[in-house]
Amino acid sequence: MDIKGMTLQQAIVHFSDPDNCVAYMVEQRWPDGVVVCPTCGRKDVSWLANQRKWQCKSKHTKRQFSAKTGTIFEDSPLSLDKWILATWMLSNCKNGVSSYEIARSIGVTQKSAWFMLQRIRLAMKEDASDLLGGPEGGAVEVDESYIGGKTKNMHYSRKMRIQKELSQIPAWKNTTRYAGKTPVMGMFDRDSRQVRAKAVPNTKRETLQAEILNGIIFGSRIYTDQAVAYDTLKANYVHETVNHADEYVRGQVHTNCLENFWSLMKRNLSGTYVAVEPFHLDRYLDEQMFRFNNRQNKTDEQRFKKVLSQVAGKRLTYAEVTGKVGETKF
Ligand SMILES: [Zn+2]
Repeated sequence: MDIKGMTLQQAIVHFSDPDNCVAYMVEQRWPDGVVVCPTCGRKDVSWLANQRKWQCKSKHTKRQFSAKTGTIFEDSPLSLDKWILATWMLSNCKNGVSSYEIARSIGVTQKSAWFMLQRIRLAMKEDASDLLGGPEGGAVEVDESYIGGKTKNMHYSRKMRIQKELSQIPAWKNTTRYAGKTPVMGMFDRDSRQVRAKAVPNTKRETLQAEILNGIIFGSRIYTDQAVAYDTLKANYVHETVNHADEYVRGQVHTNCLENFWSLMKRNLSGTYVAVEPFHLDRYLDEQMFRFNNRQNKTDEQRFKKVLSQVAGKRLTYAEVTGKVGETKF
């Protein structure tokens, strides 16, 4: 099936046919065309055309399974076409898409759309198992930033808590600049042009250094600013620092690529996604990283396919999305 160059409107028409949805999911999940039982791995399953399900020949629970079984879509009552369209929209929009837009476009409630987006972001999560940098002096930019903190957009309870925290800080301690904000740490590999970013509990030396030691190959070249948290990196890396007070960039020694990522992210978060709670921040970071890391040398269709090929094997339960147990499924 060729969906190259398809517009959103054409995608809506194409994927409104449930057989097209199933065929497309099969292509992404089982590229060699052999459907495998997600429970036991048997490959000789039979197709039940009326139910659009397969049946495994072994006797076990979930003997009958659909294209959604074993994916982030599994326990959702929403149909596959809605999931596919929402995935299409999120993987191809340039600056993020709001739950309101998804709700209008595919005909679900805003609340359902919000949960769908959180799950699709999980599928966008990039494989972070490869270390960055390289022993031959591969260069990595490292920097931290702060997200959130505009109290006018916050939930009431969080706003109250932050105002209480602020009232307890003596005025002479000029720490209010970061109060209520969540620190995030980023690393950008200059060779692969890939960024990694995650929320961190604080920006203390041991926190940031643990991330660096776990994420960057020893002997790599690391560029940071002059924050004291980075002052012992020389033991394991070639470490050079940027002096932000200095107006001249010294050759390759800068963190401009990562700063570009921060500014794109903040523009999206303050525009499309107002008031992101720290609890959900990593999901948004996953989405921003996907967009940044796949923005070049990929077509809309390739981005969409990449996300859909990653929906299997990742599970996010309702309780994990919301932190709440026992609410109605969406
Ligand atoms: Zn089976």
